[in-house]
Amino acid sequence: MLKYDLCIIGGGPAGIMAAIASGERNKKVVLIEKNEDIGKKLLLTGGGRCNLTSKGLTKKEFVSKFGKQGDFLLSSMSLFGPEELIDFFEKRGFSLKVEEGKVYPKSENSKDVLNFFKSELKKNKVTVITNKEVSDFLFKNKKIEKVLLTDNEEIFADNFLIATGGKSYPNNISSFNGYAFSKKMGHKVSVLSPALTPIEIREKWISVLKGVTLKDVGVKLNNEKEIRGDVLCTHFGLSGPLILNLSQKVKSKDKIFLDLFPKKRSEDLEKELLELFDENIKKTINNVLIGRLPLKLAPVIINFSGIDKNEICRNINKEQRKKLVKNIKNIEFNVVGLLGFEKAMVTKGGILLKEIDAKTLKSKLVANLYFAGEIIDLNGESGGFNLQMCFTTGYAVAQSI
Ligand SMILES: Cc1cc2nc3c(=O)[nH]c(=O)nc-3n(C[C@H](O)[C@H](O)[C@H](O)COP(=O)(O)OP(=O)(O)OC[C@H]3O[C@@H](n4cnc5c(N)ncnc54)[C@H](O)[C@@H]3O)c2cc1C
Repeated sequence: MLKYDLCIIGGGPAGIMAAIASGERNKKVVLIEKNEDIGKKLLLTGGGRCNLTSKGLTKKEFVSKFGKQGDFLLSSMSLFGPEELIDFFEKRGFSLKVEEGKVYPKSENSKDVLNFFKSELKKNKVTVITNKEVSDFLFKNKKIEKVLLTDNEEIFADNFLIATGGKSYPNNISSFNGYAFSKKMGHKVSVLSPALTPIEIREKWISVLKGVTLKDVGVKLNNEKEIRGDVLCTHFGLSGPLILNLSQKVKSKDKIFLDLFPKKRSEDLEKELLELFDENIKKTINNVLIGRLPLKLAPVIINFSGIDKNEICRNINKEQRKKLVKNIKNIEFNVVGLLGFEKAMVTKGGILLKEIDAKTLKSKLVANLYFAGEIIDLNGESGGFNLQMCFTTGYAVAQSI
């Protein structure tokens, strides 16, 4: 009878890393993925560019991006943090690039990451089974003896890793029976909710800006301190890394204010507009402002300021200029709510941390069971933190088998 050292359920980043790292330790490994191919969600990451990790933070700073739960990661991060991950790729000949601390494949193509992983799996003789779903875990002498696949095939192993991912972005990419298996084995799962989601707003006019990225704008949630970055407009609201991170604390009925020129004081902006209008007295305000504001946003701002977009600059009075400045520096949005699991990047909640050993990711309840990746009760900010967590936990499992 064929018996593996490690049977991994789920061919996402966590399962893949655990498989490669165990293979490198000469373990006999099988990776089971229900989809027709492994790494389907990995391909979508970073808008297809795959933001693998974040460089330049201390490990303590890194784990703080996971909130209160983050300290759990410290011991596995000491084995395999961002520096070790970067080394992992580069030593195996896969080039990376860093943009403002965010690490991507040099080609900026997630397909290359997946192809690299596939060749490492092959090199390390990992058996990859696709198109088959694990449907049950069977026990003997209080240990898992084997898993059952949907076609009734049985896979025997000494150790089992559940790396089935979370509830987020389902679209046939994820399934969440990993939670059900874990519960059946006595584990508790904290409340699951969508995290890192775009924000839906009441102002329907936003749809005209669909696909537009507002670069380096100021964003204020209610009366909180302004933060700065890029905001992606969608047909229903706001998105992009800054907004996804903000979504962690946004509730329905909150207000979000955008400042298109956060570095300029209102008085200076008003003076600039006066000069601009004086230089272009015969041109329409719309033609003049589309050179200064994002193309599709200029008519909206003009309209909000009670001005006809075909008005010529000579006719714009002081009061109208003040209104323009107010609308440029303080665009108000009313939050309807967050988009659900369908659009969430990650899942908040998961297998309770207190039931998992932080160094080995081994279950404290079942002798030969491990967890890695999004299924664990850990979710980080946008910026490569979540993938790194998957790689870190997957790698740590491999070291303890
Ligand atoms: C659009 C999008 C963009 C993202 N961008 C980034 C980014 O740039 N950087 C970043 O750090 N994070 C990003 N994330 C988050 C990141 O993708 C996840 O954190 C990561 O994929 C989780 O990895 P995982 O291995 O835990 O689970 P998954 O990637 O979900 O993989 C789990 C696998 O298990 C399989 N499976 C489930 N149940 C079974 C079963 N019973 N039998 C067999 N197989 C099973 C599933 O089919 C799936 O392939 C993004 C997420 C989304 C949705």
